Amino acid sequence: MTAKVIDGKAIAAGIRQELKKRIEKERLSPSLAVVLVGDDPASKVYIRMKSRACEEVDIHSDTFILPEDTTQEDVIKLVEAFNKDPKVHGILVQLPLPEHINEREVIEKIAPEKDVDGLTPENMGKLLSGEGNLTPCTPRGVMKLIESTGVELEGKHAIVVGRSNLVGKPVSLLLQRKHCTVTMCHSRSKPLEGYTKQADVLVVAVGRPKLITADMVKEGVVVIDVGVNRLEDGSLCGDVDFESVKERAAFITPVPGGVGPMTIACLLENTVNAST
Ligand code: NAP
Repeated sequence: MTAKVIDGKAIAAGIRQELKKRIEKERLSPSLAVVLVGDDPASKVYIRMKSRACEEVDIHSDTFILPEDTTQEDVIKLVEAFNKDPKVHGILVQLPLPEHINEREVIEKIAPEKDVDGLTPENMGKLLSGEGNLTPCTPRGVMKLIESTGVELEGKHAIVVGRSNLVGKPVSLLLQRKHCTVTMCHSRSKPLEGYTKQADVLVVAVGRPKLITADMVKEGVVVIDVGVNRLEDGSLCGDVDFESVKERAAFITPVPGGVGPMTIACLLENTVNAST
């Protein structure tokens, strides 16, 4: 079997188009405030991509770049000013923050209704209890990619490798909402292939290049590769060995061009939802 490659770029472009139409039709004026502390090159690239995407769909976005040595107190002051500003509908604090800043303490200060990353304790709690529409962007994108395959999820065994707050945990909850039986794996799950071989749906969010190989999956699996790893030659690769696994899977996402564009599209969707 050779897998059908899920085109995240095309699906994300469709979402952006729909959002642009919705903004025009409902006469919305969504606005996003983005905070970057320091000059991490990867974060700068992400922020540029996000602001370009905002422009494309007519979301107003302002990026605030603060110096690396900004105090936690000053970052929180800025977040609190956005909380009070009725013209700001969405607040995004680009992670990771410099080491002297406690990320949790900053995120907790974002007003839940403006938390377009879905990471505040209130929005995480709502996710756990199956409510709320500001779900974290990458997991939201993962679900849309799975849904694009048309594969019925009810009763399927989904394996999620990685248990981070940003990806693994929320993806597991969203899959459970769709009535999958979910197994979460992490660095102590041994042997990993003992679990991954059982997956009807396999979501991998680890950050280890080509961790998942063809002998670790069963024929016909749906594979979503969240990992982004930069190789020595400068190219990007996922956590899944795409070339070998695509010969066994039914559907698979590429890296790049799979989950990445969906994360940004879902950020835009959350910003529009927060503005209504
Ligand atoms: P993270 O916070 O570092 O979490 C990694 C998880 O992988 C942890 O739960 C860890 O287990 C587990 N793990 C590590 N080594 C393992 C192994 N050998 N076998 C099984 N599990 C293992 O990472 P993250 O923030 O979730 O991100 C994961 C990847 O997704 C990264 O490559 C990141 O760049 C990428 N990412 C992509 C997007 C996108 O938009 N495309 C968005 C977010 C993240 P323990 O908990 O036991 O340590």
